[in-house]
Order: sequence, then structure tokens, then C-alpha cells
Amino acid sequence: MFSRSRGRVHRWPGTWFSVSVALALVLVLLVALGGAHAHPRGTQSPGGAPTAPPNSGSPAPIAAPPWMHRLRPGEKPPQFVLFSFDGAGSHEHWQRILPLAKSVGAHFSGFLSGIYLLTDAQRDHYTGPGHAPGKASIGFGGSDADVRTLVGDLNTAVDQGDEIGTHYNGHFCTGAEPSIGHWSTASWNSELRQFFDYVDNARAQRGLTVDPRTITGGRTPCLEGNWAQAFPAMRAAGLDYDSSQPSDGVRWPTNLDGIWEFWMPYVKVPALNKKVIMMDFNLWFQYNHAQNDSTRSAEFTRYTMDTYRGAYTAALNGNRAPLVVGNHFNDWAGGAFAHATEDFMREVCTKSETVCATYSEVIHWMSLQDPTVLDHYRNLPAAQP
Ligand SMILES: [Zn+2]
Repeated sequence: MFSRSRGRVHRWPGTWFSVSVALALVLVLLVALGGAHAHPRGTQSPGGAPTAPPNSGSPAPIAAPPWMHRLRPGEKPPQFVLFSFDGAGSHEHWQRILPLAKSVGAHFSGFLSGIYLLTDAQRDHYTGPGHAPGKASIGFGGSDADVRTLVGDLNTAVDQGDEIGTHYNGHFCTGAEPSIGHWSTASWNSELRQFFDYVDNARAQRGLTVDPRTITGGRTPCLEGNWAQAFPAMRAAGLDYDSSQPSDGVRWPTNLDGIWEFWMPYVKVPALNKKVIMMDFNLWFQYNHAQNDSTRSAEFTRYTMDTYRGAYTAALNGNRAPLVVGNHFNDWAGGAFAHATEDFMREVCTKSETVCATYSEVIHWMSLQDPTVLDHYRNLPAAQP
């Protein structure tokens, strides 16, 4: 249960204990709920599933956005905000976030649970490392029409410039043993190989247009994993970023043995006057132990917005580190977290000096910079709201 806590002792002396305890509580709850963290699949729209947009042949080359350049002397980095959604399987949420992002000029990242590309009838095509074929902690893709709908959503996202990453497959968190925290590199290799097989099959058979070469990172389920075992598999699969590990405050991504770690910020929640990992489930757990009480929805949305705004302002006025907003497509607490994230996207992505971007865009932007200029910002203290 405490396997993920060990590394933290070294990274954040002074805070590791409370973080470990908080994480342990979350894990206990996840075990108790037996998969309550699983990503809800959206209900299908009446009238059947939309089909994938027609593939219009070779797209026109997209001009680089104006912020994609080497900083001029005295120019500050844009304040990047990285919205990311784990699971990425809910049509209802895709239908809300895609037009919203487009309307405010935002790009975001959807971390797909690979088995959503398998119908329920195809569940035996997945064998989680150490588990029986067809077994997973989350649902599979549903009916043939459901998977077709998902493919359409993924294609639309890529057409809009959004990014698809991986949330792996079986979502085996602590308690669903062998959970991912106990997996070997060979286990991670198997998990990633199967993920990319599902993508390839969906391309060949269902018209998925997501190019597997553009899937270059992701987030592990429940933010778990033994990184010494997982990172070699990520590298072998061609991934170059991960966004699972927490940092105290908002920090610049760190290159860990060839993988960019985009830290999940551990920041102050004003309503609680304590620090929490800025991820929907972790916030929910701190608000009311993740009780699904929709009567407090508006209150929780406000708490979450205040947390987002505090972290954003601290980064903007401080080290300008990219701000990771981690979320699921979920309706927890009456949709409190989905509403907060959508409201924040609407509010922040149109602010000056602010760019709502994908992970790959930020990695490309970093590659354009003078290393000494970037180091100056990296060496500033982590932004603390
Ligand atoms: Zn998840």
C-alpha cells in the first residue's frame, strides 16, 4: 500500500509524511469502493451514435501558433495550462469539452483507457499483467455503437489539435492485485503493447485517425506505479512524457532518464487551508471523503475553482511553470469537478500571456528555448499559492 510513498521521502523532505498519509487514505478509500474511481462512461445520445468525421485527405498544414518561438530577451514564458482528462471514454463529456475548448482556443489532452476501444464482447482480448483474460477494474467499451462513438470523439479531438495519450488499460490500483505499483518492466511492456494493439486495430477496422506515433505520454491509474520499473517500458514504447508524479507546488517538468515528468502539483486548497494534489478525486476525498453528495456540488465547484485560480496566479506571478489540471470525465458530487474544470478552461484560456496547450506542444516549445533561459525559470522556487 505504501509502495508509492517511498520515493517521496527524498523529493520533499518535511512534507512526505502528510502526503503519504493523504495518499494512503485515498488508496484505502479506493480499495473500499472497489473501483469507484473507474471512469464513468457517458450515456449515448438519443438517435444513435455519430460517426467519425470524414477523413478529408491530407489536411492543410497548420501554421505554428504565435507563442511557439524562442523567447526574446526579457520575454517571459507563456503561462501554460495543461488540461488533461483520464479515461477519455465518456461521450457526454467529450460533447461538452470539445466545443468548449474550440471556442476558447484551448488544446487539451485526453488520456485514453485502451480497453474502451474493445467492445464488451471483446474483453478477452485483454489480459492484464498477472490477471485473468477479460478482467479489469474499469468497464470495457460497451457495444459496437459505443466504440464507434468513441472513435468519432477521438478523431474530432485530434482534428481540433488536441492530444491523445494513454491511461493504460486495466486500471489496477492498490487492492486489485497485482496492482500497477507491483508491476515489473515486463508487465508494463505487456500493458503498453496491448494498448497500442487496440489503437492499431481501431485504425484498421474502425477508422480511428489517431496516429500511434502521436501518443507519446500519459498518466498512470490512481497516479500509482513503481517508476524504476515503469519508465524503461515507457521509453521502449516511444513515450517521452508522464504526468503522474506529484510535486510540492507548481514546478517545471523534469527530464527523468529520458521521460519528461510533468508534475501533478500539490497545492493549497483555500477552503481547507491545506495542500492537496490538484486532481479531482484527491480534492473530492479531502472535501467530504468522496461521498457522492450532490447537494454540495456548487460549493465544491467553488472550492476547486479557488484552488485552480490560486495555483495559476502563483505560477503566473512566479516561476511560470506549466500548470497541470488533472481531471477525469466524471460526474462526481453532482458534476462539481467537471463544472469547475470547464469554468476554469473558459476563464483562463483567454487570458493574456496564457496558453492552454497539450503536453507535446509544451515539450516542443521547451526544445526551442535557450537552455540557460529555461534554467533560470526552472531554478526559481516552485510556485506556491
Ligand atoms: Zn483513472
